Amino acid sequence: MSNIVLARKYRPQNFQEVVGQQHVTKTLANSLKLGIYSPAYLFSGPRGVGKTTMARLLAKALNCVKSPQICNECPACREITSGSSLDVLEIDGASNRGIDEVRALRDNVKFAPSTLRHKVYIIDEAHQITGAAFNALLKTLEEPPAYITFILATTEPHKIPATILSRCQHYNFHLLTIDQIIGTLKDILTREKIIFSEDALREIAKAARGSMRDALSLCDQAIVFSNRNITYQAVSDLLGLLPQEAFYQIVENIAQQENKKNLQIIEKIVNDGYDLIQFSQGLVDIFRAMLLISLGVENPELTAEQKIHLANLSKNFNPAQLIRILQILTRTLDELHWTTNQQILLEISLVRIAEPYAAITELLKRLESPAPSTTKTQQIPAQPTFSQPAESEKSETAALSGDYFRLWEELLKILGQKRNYTLIQIVRQVNPVSFVNNTLKVICPGKFTYDGIIRNQSTIEQLLKEISRQDIKISPEQKSLVKPIETTSAPKPVTAEKTPEPELELTGGIPTEEENTAPDLVAPSEAVKKVLNYFPGKIKSENKLK
Ligand SMILES: [Zn+2]
Repeated sequence: MSNIVLARKYRPQNFQEVVGQQHVTKTLANSLKLGIYSPAYLFSGPRGVGKTTMARLLAKALNCVKSPQICNECPACREITSGSSLDVLEIDGASNRGIDEVRALRDNVKFAPSTLRHKVYIIDEAHQITGAAFNALLKTLEEPPAYITFILATTEPHKIPATILSRCQHYNFHLLTIDQIIGTLKDILTREKIIFSEDALREIAKAARGSMRDALSLCDQAIVFSNRNITYQAVSDLLGLLPQEAFYQIVENIAQQENKKNLQIIEKIVNDGYDLIQFSQGLVDIFRAMLLISLGVENPELTAEQKIHLANLSKNFNPAQLIRILQILTRTLDELHWTTNQQILLEISLVRIAEPYAAITELLKRLESPAPSTTKTQQIPAQPTFSQPAESEKSETAALSGDYFRLWEELLKILGQKRNYTLIQIVRQVNPVSFVNNTLKVICPGKFTYDGIIRNQSTIEQLLKEISRQDIKISPEQKSLVKPIETTSAPKPVTAEKTPEPELELTGGIPTEEENTAPDLVAPSEAVKKVLNYFPGKIKSENKLK
């Protein structure tokens, strides 16, 4: 059978046919009706949501004999639809990013349109254009001939220089909702006389993650794959979806702290050839859905059956726990893209999620406050508090206040993009703990990491500057080593008061079963009891100073 390319066949031919983006279509259509034109437009937003389509529609609206309407019948409309017009030029910013290309474009601008009224330049991926080339373009934008319109399309508007931005009418495109995508797919498939189930379309819409282009291309594949009968099973096979039950089982195991069972599931998933990134994304979706349920927010991605199931599962977690789990999982998802051993990374994350965990910053904060009474137990929040700086850190730079943890994550991301795996290994082990006077204090778990950070300090600072556009210094510190002390006296019976859960991972590792349940070998002295108030743990031995 012939390969249908739905995205091309059903590309919107006028503003009314565009799905979603009403805020753009309405404003554009109205301003054209009022005769308000801009020599330059900037269309920004995620990929596959209709920026280039909208640019072509704008070109038609400017040139149609019924302008600002689009008739789709006049020669201008037909030329633009077929892509044969010499006056509507689509330029790929990625391959024409240099100053020479932009100069050639500038020379071309001088010539009046050959057949149409308006000459329209659509520059896709405009953020790829170099700084010098943007400067050359700016001259044209400052005094454009009346017959010229530029439309810049980009996924990264923050990379467009402010001088260019200020000369553009800026429209920000949104991701499409699941319902918008399903609605469009239903409409198109009905017109194509293809059988489908709504569950199947929901999975396609979810996998497309807000991009209509991706949804249509998945639909193309599903039509061929399923022989024009798009069932849930067909889509599930096509997308390599794990059965929903596998996800429910993992969540239940996390709630019961059944690490062993979860590691067995991961092993099976790997052996069955499933993609771990896709699996992790599925897990993120599940926990996000549970968070929304626990906050009472409506989620159109779920079927009625899924809602009931997830509502039950979410009773095992409070919102703070779900947020912590999502933080760990999204970070893992990011790291999975560049790690050489996905399985280990995912296993560590799942175990971490299931383990009670206290943030070291919380303990450090308590060290600075007056000593707590030795008899009163104190609760440690089970949630990392990196994004909530302590009182003493109030002098942080406003823009970055509380965001230094994210800054560190951005750094990891950039290192991943640059494939600097050695530095990733070092940076990943380091924890940012405070950000004062543009200095980011980071704690290194050992000498190796500390030396690594010192060696790469200028590289890291340069990258932090690229991310934040601020001069940021890093101040690495080595975490003091916690070593068990040799004992000379015989072990005494246990009299220590039980320390509150959760326990701190002093060594940065995961406490083993044995460490968690073994009783203290030595009765602690008063001084040690005080230490225990800050650092809950087990005492293996104690050595008195003479
Ligand atoms: Zn027309």
